[in-house]
Amino acid sequence: MTLHVHVDLSAFERNVAALVNKAQPAGVWVALKSHAYGHGMTELADNALRAGATGLAVLDIPAALALRAHGITSTLFAWLHGRETDFSEAVAQGIDVGVSTLGQLDAIASAGNAQKVPARVHLKIDTGLHRNGFSETDWASACASAAEHEKSGSIVVVGVWSHLADASDAADLDALKRFDAALETVSSAGLNPTIRHIAASSAGFANSDARYDVVRFGILAYGISPFADSNGQQLGLSPVMSLTSRAELHDETSVRVAAGWHDGVPQNPQGAWVLVGGERCRVESVHPRFTLVERPADFADGATVAVIGQGGPTAEDWASWTNTIGDEIVTGIPVTARRVFSS
Ligand SMILES: *Cc1c(COP(=O)(O)O)cnc(C)c1O
Repeated sequence: MTLHVHVDLSAFERNVAALVNKAQPAGVWVALKSHAYGHGMTELADNALRAGATGLAVLDIPAALALRAHGITSTLFAWLHGRETDFSEAVAQGIDVGVSTLGQLDAIASAGNAQKVPARVHLKIDTGLHRNGFSETDWASACASAAEHEKSGSIVVVGVWSHLADASDAADLDALKRFDAALETVSSAGLNPTIRHIAASSAGFANSDARYDVVRFGILAYGISPFADSNGQQLGLSPVMSLTSRAELHDETSVRVAAGWHDGVPQNPQGAWVLVGGERCRVESVHPRFTLVERPADFADGATVAVIGQGGPTAEDWASWTNTIGDEIVTGIPVTARRVFSS
């Protein structure tokens, strides 16, 4: 295999441990959505917990059930549900479920009833992102309804949560105020959730006021910065995923690297370079299965090319060359490419 996708599990553990340390006394859940941002969900779950995370956040219930089946006994949080979502298995397996509508609340309460185990519910308030969650207008009645279900024993409201837009400090500050107001309403309804959570990487790292009981760290755990003015290494974190390949001579002036946009090399980069045999060489064009790169002064056929990481450009570098964010670079490496995990 000339193409290598490498996942450094010890770097991942170091990152999570650093974030756990940073967030304390708040706890840390690691977001493993989108196949752990392309790294491998089941592969990274144990390491996140070993490094001190107290829970794992995934998008939907099937992903949480897959982690339970894999033997993960920690808190598992899932919040994205379809119209047809069946909550019974989630309740039976003790999954923590984010709830954004009265329909979901009733459905999960019936599941709790049927299973004779209270469903673990986290009520979501929309604090301005408008992605999902109860509106502020509906919040009081949602809390009242949840309190009734809780009295009947079909659910227990263990958490209240939201998500920040991270668009600006002012917007986040406003969202935190709305969150505090929503928490007041929760107490007035007679609910006593102990897990209040709103921050992801950006606010969780930069703003101690946003941490509440738990921070849901995603991208930072993978060593990638959510901030425009820094990379993960400057924040004291290490990149986890890397992509290397090999080059052969293409013509007088170019070499051909065996990795293209099908393999996760971002398309149409502006000003990109890679390391060919340790030398920085300009990227000329990215094709489906290969990339043409300026020929280094000293070239040997089969030279190793660091495309992402391993001393080559970082995911953040590629993100700036393609006008996107680091998340897109790592999740762009197809899940079908075999990952080599090392510790
Ligand atoms: C993606 C996501 C996270 C993690 O976000 P990062 O910015 O990658 O840390 C946390 N919570 C929710 C609800 C998310 O969708």
